[in-house]
Amino acid sequence: MTRTDKDGESILKGILFDIQPFSVHDGPGIRTTVFLKGCNLRCYWCHNPESQRMEPELCFKSSLCIGCGACAQACPKGGARFTEHCDACGRCAGECYAGALSVTGYALEAAGLVERLLRDRALFERSGGGVTFSGGEPLLQPEFLQEALTLCRQNGLHTAVETAANVPWARIEPLLGLLDTVFCDLKALDPELHRRATGCGNRTILDNIRRLGEGRAAGRQVILRIPVIPGFNDNEQELSRMADFIRALPYSPQVELLPFHGLCSAKYAMYGRTYAAEGLKSPGTEELRRFSRLFSGIQISFKGMEAFT
Ligand code: SF4
Ligand code: SF4
Repeated sequence: MTRTDKDGESILKGILFDIQPFSVHDGPGIRTTVFLKGCNLRCYWCHNPESQRMEPELCFKSSLCIGCGACAQACPKGGARFTEHCDACGRCAGECYAGALSVTGYALEAAGLVERLLRDRALFERSGGGVTFSGGEPLLQPEFLQEALTLCRQNGLHTAVETAANVPWARIEPLLGLLDTVFCDLKALDPELHRRATGCGNRTILDNIRRLGEGRAAGRQVILRIPVIPGFNDNEQELSRMADFIRALPYSPQVELLPFHGLCSAKYAMYGRTYAAEGLKSPGTEELRRFSRLFSGIQISFKGMEAFT
């Protein structure tokens, strides 16, 4: 997204929804994770509904609402919360003294972002950490990401990105020289299964994963993340296909299994949506161990297991 300054110069801004310090699961050391808004997949188990739309949106915490009605009075659209007429102007939030309303998503220049990130530099240096760009799909804002990564690099920060890689390779390739670590999702090998679960086929994704070992990508640390989702890919046939695909790659990525957890239905309600994966059961530790054995010869670990122990 761009705007112009008083001299008509273009200023590049990204749309973010969070900056999370002290992250320990998004790359080496202690990291600050920057969450960019917008995603071009719609995985039905998505844990971050607030990440999906590019534009800012209204968040309503019903448990804090005291029913005073000030929000409806302030709304220029006649009380448009969670309707197509709401443009997230935030006037209702400005009048809600109970703190039940807020707007998720804001624009920020890359320079301002990196200035904020550099406050954590001492922590990065002590822990071997750095900055991770996540989402949503950060590669949907490639110019902003490139500028932010360039500034991180100029300041000597370790950089990582978390992507689903559902974008043209031409958008990924220019960023690779600016990245130390690439986390890339691998959700399913079966194209129809992938389409039914995410709204999109997987050909671009698989091609991109293959190319992560080539050219400028060579030498990056690549970690493939496989979400293990009940009723979608939690079966030996699909996981074995993924393991075969990984073994056939021209490089040796690490693999993380991410067990499903359904701890986010309250978050969907805050954005006026329902959680399509409501009631699904998380895979058990033993089941995950059994699945992990399908990945013999591949360096594999689990992410987020603390939610199950
Ligand atoms: S202004 Fe806040 S507390 Fe009052 S009705 Fe609206 S959401 Fe509830
Ligand atoms: S964000 Fe703006 S348009 Fe949306 S409900 Fe609040 S006041 Fe109305």
